[in-house]
Amino acid sequence: MKFLTDAMLGKLTRFLRIFGYDTVYANDLIDFFNLDPVPDEKLIEYAKKNGRLIITKDYGLYKLYMEKSVFLNGKGIYNYLKQLNKNFGVVFKFNFRSARCSICNSQLKRVENKVLIKKLILEETFKNYSEFYQCINPQCKKVYWQGSHIEDIEEKLRNTLEYD
Ligand SMILES: [Zn+2]
Repeated sequence: MKFLTDAMLGKLTRFLRIFGYDTVYANDLIDFFNLDPVPDEKLIEYAKKNGRLIITKDYGLYKLYMEKSVFLNGKGIYNYLKQLNKNFGVVFKFNFRSARCSICNSQLKRVENKVLIKKLILEETFKNYSEFYQCINPQCKKVYWQGSHIEDIEEKLRNTLEYD
Protein backbone atom coordinates (compact mmCIF):
# COMPACT_ATOMS: atom_id res chain seq x y z
CA MET A 1 0.00 0.00 0.00
CA LYS A 2 1.41 3.38 -1.03
CA PHE A 3 0.03 6.63 0.30
CA LEU A 4 -0.28 10.31 -0.45
CA THR A 5 -0.97 12.39 2.66
CA ASP A 6 -2.48 15.85 2.70
CA ALA A 7 -0.76 18.99 4.06
CA MET A 8 -2.39 18.64 7.49
CA LEU A 9 -0.87 15.22 8.10
CA GLY A 10 2.85 15.88 8.53
CA LYS A 11 3.20 13.84 11.69
CA LEU A 12 1.22 10.91 10.32
CA THR A 13 3.43 11.00 7.23
CA ARG A 14 6.55 10.50 9.39
CA PHE A 15 4.91 7.63 11.28
CA LEU A 16 3.81 5.83 8.12
CA ARG A 17 7.32 6.06 6.66
CA ILE A 18 8.96 4.76 9.83
CA PHE A 19 6.58 1.80 9.76
CA GLY A 20 7.64 1.05 6.21
CA TYR A 21 4.86 2.62 4.13
CA ASP A 22 5.93 4.48 1.03
CA THR A 23 4.28 7.85 1.69
CA VAL A 24 4.44 11.07 -0.31
CA TYR A 25 3.46 14.20 1.60
CA ALA A 26 1.47 16.87 -0.24
CA ASN A 27 3.87 19.63 0.83
CA ASP A 28 6.77 17.70 -0.69
CA LEU A 29 5.04 18.14 -4.07
CA ILE A 30 5.08 21.96 -3.93
CA ASP A 31 8.33 22.11 -5.92
CA PHE A 32 7.23 19.32 -8.25
CA PHE A 33 4.11 21.22 -9.33
CA ASN A 34 5.50 24.66 -8.55
CA LEU A 35 2.23 25.46 -6.78
CA ASP A 36 1.71 26.25 -3.09
CA PRO A 37 -0.53 24.87 -1.80
CA VAL A 38 -0.84 22.02 -4.29
CA PRO A 39 -4.47 22.07 -5.54
CA ASP A 40 -6.69 19.04 -4.87
CA GLU A 41 -6.95 18.18 -8.57
CA LYS A 42 -3.16 17.97 -8.83
CA LEU A 43 -2.93 15.73 -5.75
CA ILE A 44 -5.54 13.40 -7.23
CA GLU A 45 -3.79 13.39 -10.60
CA TYR A 46 -0.51 12.48 -8.87
CA ALA A 47 -2.13 9.77 -6.73
CA LYS A 48 -3.78 8.20 -9.78
CA LYS A 49 -0.63 8.23 -11.85
CA ASN A 50 1.45 6.68 -9.06
CA GLY A 51 -1.11 4.25 -7.63
CA ARG A 52 -1.31 5.95 -4.24
CA LEU A 53 -4.17 5.99 -1.77
CA ILE A 54 -4.89 9.51 -0.52
CA ILE A 55 -5.18 10.00 3.24
CA THR A 56 -6.84 13.27 4.13
CA LYS A 57 -8.44 15.40 6.82
CA ASP A 58 -10.07 17.49 4.10
CA TYR A 59 -13.58 16.32 3.36
CA GLY A 60 -13.66 18.33 0.13
CA LEU A 61 -10.64 16.45 -1.20
CA TYR A 62 -12.05 13.13 0.00
CA LYS A 63 -15.32 13.73 -1.86
CA LEU A 64 -13.50 14.37 -5.13
CA TYR A 65 -11.76 10.98 -5.01
CA MET A 66 -13.77 8.76 -2.66
CA GLU A 67 -12.94 5.52 -4.45
CA LYS A 68 -9.24 5.72 -3.60
CA SER A 69 -9.03 7.93 -0.54
CA VAL A 70 -9.37 7.69 3.21
CA PHE A 71 -10.98 10.40 5.32
CA LEU A 72 -9.73 10.60 8.90
CA ASN A 73 -12.01 11.76 11.69
CA GLY A 74 -11.11 13.65 14.85
CA LYS A 75 -7.63 14.51 16.02
CA GLY A 76 -4.42 12.95 17.25
CA ILE A 77 -1.83 10.67 15.75
CA TYR A 78 -2.86 7.49 17.60
CA ASN A 79 -6.47 8.08 16.69
CA TYR A 80 -5.42 8.26 13.01
CA LEU A 81 -3.29 5.13 13.25
CA LYS A 82 -6.19 3.31 14.86
CA GLN A 83 -8.59 4.30 12.09
CA LEU A 84 -6.12 3.15 9.45
CA ASN A 85 -5.71 -0.15 11.26
CA LYS A 86 -9.38 -0.85 12.02
CA ASN A 87 -10.89 0.37 8.78
CA PHE A 88 -8.22 -0.42 6.24
CA GLY A 89 -6.13 -3.14 7.82
CA VAL A 90 -2.93 -1.09 7.86
CA VAL A 91 -0.53 -2.88 10.17
CA PHE A 92 2.06 -1.05 12.26
CA LYS A 93 4.97 -3.31 12.98
CA PHE A 94 8.39 -1.74 13.09
CA ASN A 95 11.30 -3.34 11.25
CA PHE A 96 14.47 -1.58 10.17
CA ARG A 97 14.66 -3.61 6.97
CA SER A 98 11.35 -2.22 5.74
CA ALA A 99 11.40 1.18 7.47
CA ARG A 100 11.73 4.30 5.33
CA CYS A 101 13.29 7.63 6.18
CA SER A 102 10.77 9.78 8.08
CA ILE A 103 12.17 12.93 6.46
CA CYS A 104 12.43 12.02 2.78
CA ASN A 105 10.70 8.63 2.30
CA SER A 106 13.86 6.93 0.96
CA GLN A 107 14.90 3.45 2.03
CA LEU A 108 17.42 2.82 4.79
CA LYS A 109 20.52 0.69 4.69
CA ARG A 110 22.42 -0.87 7.54
CA VAL A 111 25.61 0.93 8.56
CA GLU A 112 28.39 -1.65 8.38
CA ASN A 113 30.97 0.38 10.26
CA LYS A 114 29.57 2.81 12.78
CA VAL A 115 32.72 4.94 12.78
CA LEU A 116 31.57 6.22 9.38
CA ILE A 117 28.52 7.93 10.90
CA LYS A 118 30.15 9.05 14.13
CA LYS A 119 30.08 12.72 13.14
CA LEU A 120 26.37 12.61 12.36
CA ILE A 121 25.18 11.54 15.82
CA LEU A 122 25.72 12.45 19.46
CA GLU A 123 28.70 11.01 21.28
CA GLU A 124 26.38 9.33 23.77
CA THR A 125 24.32 7.64 21.07
CA PHE A 126 27.49 6.43 19.40
CA LYS A 127 28.65 4.85 22.64
CA ASN A 128 25.33 3.30 23.67
CA TYR A 129 24.22 1.69 20.42
CA SER A 130 25.88 -0.68 18.01
CA GLU A 131 23.31 -1.09 15.25
CA PHE A 132 22.63 1.87 12.99
CA TYR A 133 20.75 2.44 9.76
CA GLN A 134 21.08 5.33 7.37
CA CYS A 135 18.90 6.95 4.72
CA ILE A 136 20.24 6.08 1.25
CA ASN A 137 19.35 9.51 -0.17
CA PRO A 138 22.69 11.36 -0.52
CA GLN A 139 20.95 14.69 0.16
CA CYS A 140 19.53 13.43 3.46
CA LYS A 141 21.65 10.67 5.06
CA LYS A 142 19.68 10.72 8.30
CA VAL A 143 20.86 8.12 10.82
CA TYR A 144 18.50 5.82 12.76
CA TRP A 145 18.97 3.41 15.63
CA GLN A 146 16.73 1.19 17.72
CA GLY A 147 16.20 3.46 20.71
CA SER A 148 13.49 3.91 23.28
CA HIS A 149 11.53 6.19 20.94
CA ILE A 150 10.38 3.37 18.69
CA GLU A 151 9.58 1.18 21.69
CA ASP A 152 7.41 3.92 23.19
CA ILE A 153 5.51 4.29 19.95
CA GLU A 154 4.94 0.54 19.65
CA GLU A 155 3.78 0.23 23.24
CA LYS A 156 1.36 3.13 22.89
CA LEU A 157 0.08 1.64 19.65
CA ARG A 158 -0.53 -1.73 21.24
CA ASN A 159 -2.56 -0.05 23.98
CA THR A 160 -4.46 2.15 21.55
CA LEU A 161 -5.38 -0.67 19.21
CA GLU A 162 -6.35 -3.07 21.93
CA TYR A 163 -8.65 -0.98 24.10
CA ASP A 164 -11.57 0.88 22.64
ZN1 LIG B 1 16.15 10.59 4.21
